[in-house]
Amino acid sequence: MSKKYQNYINGKWVDAKSGKTFENRNPANWDEVVGTFPLSNKDDVNEAVKAARTAFEEWRLVPAPKRGDILRKVGDLMTERKEQIARLMTQEMGKVLLETRGDVQEGIDTAYYASSEGRRLFGHTVPSELPNKFNMAVRMPIGVAAIITPWNFPMAIPTWKIFPALVCGNTIVFKPASDTPATATALVEILIEAGVPPGVVNIVHGGGSEVGMVLVEHPDVDLISFTGSTGVGKKISEVASKTLKRVSLELGGKNAQIVMDDARLDLALEGVLWGAFGTTGQRCTATSRLIVHEKVYDKFLSMVVDKAQKLHLGDGLDEKNEVGPCVNENQRKTVDSYVQIGKGEGAKVVAGGKVASGNGLSKGWFYEPTVLADVTENMRVAKEEIFGPVLSVIKVRSLDEAIRIANNTTYGLSSSVYTQDINNAYHAIRDLKAGITYINAPTIGAEAHMPFGGVKETGNGHREGGWTVYDFFSEWKTVYVDYSGKLQRAQIDNA
Ligand code: NAD
Repeated sequence: MSKKYQNYINGKWVDAKSGKTFENRNPANWDEVVGTFPLSNKDDVNEAVKAARTAFEEWRLVPAPKRGDILRKVGDLMTERKEQIARLMTQEMGKVLLETRGDVQEGIDTAYYASSEGRRLFGHTVPSELPNKFNMAVRMPIGVAAIITPWNFPMAIPTWKIFPALVCGNTIVFKPASDTPATATALVEILIEAGVPPGVVNIVHGGGSEVGMVLVEHPDVDLISFTGSTGVGKKISEVASKTLKRVSLELGGKNAQIVMDDARLDLALEGVLWGAFGTTGQRCTATSRLIVHEKVYDKFLSMVVDKAQKLHLGDGLDEKNEVGPCVNENQRKTVDSYVQIGKGEGAKVVAGGKVASGNGLSKGWFYEPTVLADVTENMRVAKEEIFGPVLSVIKVRSLDEAIRIANNTTYGLSSSVYTQDINNAYHAIRDLKAGITYINAPTIGAEAHMPFGGVKETGNGHREGGWTVYDFFSEWKTVYVDYSGKLQRAQIDNA
């Protein structure tokens, strides 16, 4: 019997009002059911939003350092349960243990950062233009935040949103991806144990349209923090604009690693393998394009192909495996359809290119790590997000051409340049249109205390991580205290 999970609303674990449920299966072995979860709808969302709205009135008055203390306990509990959560995550979404441990660690780092932020949340004091008057700007909580998240970082991404939201004094309704509801539940259990009061954190499981969109439309939701595909992000932005809700969107990517002729190829090789095939290529920052200088193209391509073919596929719980399955059947179909599109456009499959078969792979959504060579800049496989283990390789004659091609996509999340030439490096830092640029490191690997996000259709200008996300989850209030004992008219008495 698989475990039965519930929603958590107003301090209680409850089924969906409709009584309906859905199953979550292990993508490395589809016979294994990880759990059954409530298939919720607008009735459940309404209850959760009502609870969050009511709880907000008390939570906003809890001193921020006390809210931060709860997050310190959250960090401690996550540390204790790191291995257990990592295993659960591998079981429900497939990435290998090494990576699911990293995903939980990112959540732990975010918890401790947010905890200490409870003692900062700095405002500004600014001199007044008038005598005997004091000016300051302080951060205020906003209200109810809807947290809508994808399945590829089922712990890190929710924590990037939920922890700053809570420290700033907001309450939340959390709608996790339906491919990773068990990891999301583990996070909520920890928040409860750490002392978050009833109604402050609510989780409602279910589909994007039935739960996610209902939150976006709900008049009592003030903030939407969404990470997912650009298509859904655009819909959310459109709908939320009707009520002028504040919306943070972290969306897709088509990230490129540039390898110059002076690069250390051994380092660039490790970088591209990790960037392209880590998380089975299912990262928003995954290296989806490899742009190589013509002088080293043939040599580097054969190095990549050789290693890609040797990557060990299999169940992520077995530590000898380096690459897990795609998250579900649809994702694998998308990956394969892009490989066919690439072939049709004239790209050459030089590694992989098909559904993986072999021992232990027959009941999972495995796809061979794939390298497409001779890709040119206007092919669809050079411009569109694939979100799977497929690397498109493009030959260039110069750094300028490499940067122009790297920028030739609607996305702008991460980018990377391998070079030993400091002038090349700074040139690329200045000209790559991306929210993140790595020098001599792969396109993946965010640190919790640094801003994270992208330009163009990767988002709408907000950043998660670091100090920047606190601007999204709080509202500036400007305060003037006049202690002159008389009416002072700014711009008039001041002239
Ligand atoms: P998705 O857009 O399909 O789903 C994301 C979340 O939105 C899920 O919880 C889903 O149920 C919900 N959703 C779906 N339709 C909705 C709707 N109409 N209204 C409201 N909510 C809805 O994305 P996914 O397949 O879960 O994740 C993969 C995508 O996420 C990729 O495009 C990837 O690049 C992107 N991503 C971006 C970042 C980033 O920080 N930029 C990080 C990770 C993933």
